[in-house]
Amino acid sequence: MLSLGFWLDTVTVSTTVIAPEQFHVVLDAGHGGLDNGACVDGVSEAAINLRIVKILATELQNRNCAVSLTRVDSDSLNSPHARNKKVEDMAKRREKIRSLNPDLVISIHLNTYPLTSVSGLQCFYANETLGSYDYAAAIQNQFNQSGLPIYKTVKPTDFNLVEHSPCPAVLIECGFLTNPRERKLLQNTTYQQILAYNIADAIINQAEHQPKQSAV
Ligand SMILES: [Zn+2]
Repeated sequence: MLSLGFWLDTVTVSTTVIAPEQFHVVLDAGHGGLDNGACVDGVSEAAINLRIVKILATELQNRNCAVSLTRVDSDSLNSPHARNKKVEDMAKRREKIRSLNPDLVISIHLNTYPLTSVSGLQCFYANETLGSYDYAAAIQNQFNQSGLPIYKTVKPTDFNLVEHSPCPAVLIECGFLTNPRERKLLQNTTYQQILAYNIADAIINQAEHQPKQSAV
């Protein structure tokens, strides 16, 4: 039986924060379609990413944000006949983000590592000139303050979708599927909700202080 008592007792949840007017976030659930992402003991990353994204979408909408998703179900965005499905999927995600012209992009992923003892969250950013670092740091600080496990400090990434975003973009590795305890937590709806609360609060608090920036 999995105990969530620690997080339920220590995480402070605020829903009083409200987004600045017309703040639009695109949420990207990593992988999808034939690409399951990381897969450990039959638990696939793609499905958990989507569940976290859907809960996060509701949390952001509750805080007055406009929210769009790159993928809305288990399918990827490429056509089934695409020669290189992954390349087309990523291109379509980038295209969708450009056409939506949001204020922030958040890509949700899960991590793996050969050592099963390794666990924790980590945020990545690209396009520092657009203010991505500030969002990544705000989200990771919020995790830290809430007593959630942190893997390593905020780092830059060359992950395609984040690097080519026209607005601030953050990739969140929500934990390690290779760690048995974290793998159980990541499948737990309450834990997914706790992650979403914290990400949403951090985004809104940061959006209140940070001027909107876009490369378009
Ligand atoms: Zn991934």
